[in-house]
Amino acid sequence: MELLESHLSDVGGLPIRRALPNRGRRSVGAWVFLDHAGPASLSGRGMNVAPHPHTGLATFSWMIEGEILHRDSLGSEQVLRPGQVNLMTAGRGIAHSEESLSDRLHLAQLWIALPDAERFCAPAFEHHPVLPRLEREGFSITLLAGELLGETSPVTTWSPLMGADLLCTAAARTALPLEPGFEHGLMVLEGELRVNGELLTPGRLLYLEPGLQGLQIEADAAARVLLLGGAPWAKPPLLWWNFVGRTREEIEQFAAEWNALTGFFDGVQVTGYKGERLMAPPVPRIKE
Ligand code: MN
Repeated sequence: MELLESHLSDVGGLPIRRALPNRGRRSVGAWVFLDHAGPASLSGRGMNVAPHPHTGLATFSWMIEGEILHRDSLGSEQVLRPGQVNLMTAGRGIAHSEESLSDRLHLAQLWIALPDAERFCAPAFEHHPVLPRLEREGFSITLLAGELLGETSPVTTWSPLMGADLLCTAAARTALPLEPGFEHGLMVLEGELRVNGELLTPGRLLYLEPGLQGLQIEADAAARVLLLGGAPWAKPPLLWWNFVGRTREEIEQFAAEWNALTGFFDGVQVTGYKGERLMAPPVPRIKE
């Protein structure tokens, strides 16, 4: 058991708590990037992320409050609303933009690293307007990925992985079974609660080693927590800017090809977005 502090930043008035990657940990299963954005009012400024590329990962967006318009280079145009998931598989290369349609925003933006055999697959986009939900001892559980309590999420996965959102609107207490082969991470999105006796608040990631059979979750008032798990990776992949790769040379190649629109990014563009795309900055020394 390990408590990791998130890195705090602010993007146009939207507070971001980045739980992964962390100085002390780079992944929980294939989950390699965990951002908790908001809740906050954008005070009329709006969020506008211009077209930018991804490779080697899938972006997983879980909306709690507000609306975001997603556009990508496959021609997808999709509004993401509360209770819904967008899963964008970058594979060998994709570009997308994100624009807020609401003043308030609250969401989790997560990345899933693709395994060696899938990481250069064709790009794809999935929108899931409805996900399996179950009630358990005062908790409303939405199954975001993988399996839990006999339910299976329709969201595509490439390696053994799970994700669930647990919400209680008053004091509640429950026990949940875990897959002992998985490592797990918990991040509180609202309120506070205790997990196996450890007090959790927003901005902290509780990391749990493989081998656990279950969790005790207790809240004294309304709270929301994300439970993420997966089979540990022998060697976590390399992350830089919007790319997931294996070596520095590879990351340099992705950046150069995006900037020149060649190779994997030949002809890749986000139609319908008004404005310039984001260019990759110079690649620094990355520790492999
Ligand atoms: Mn992105």
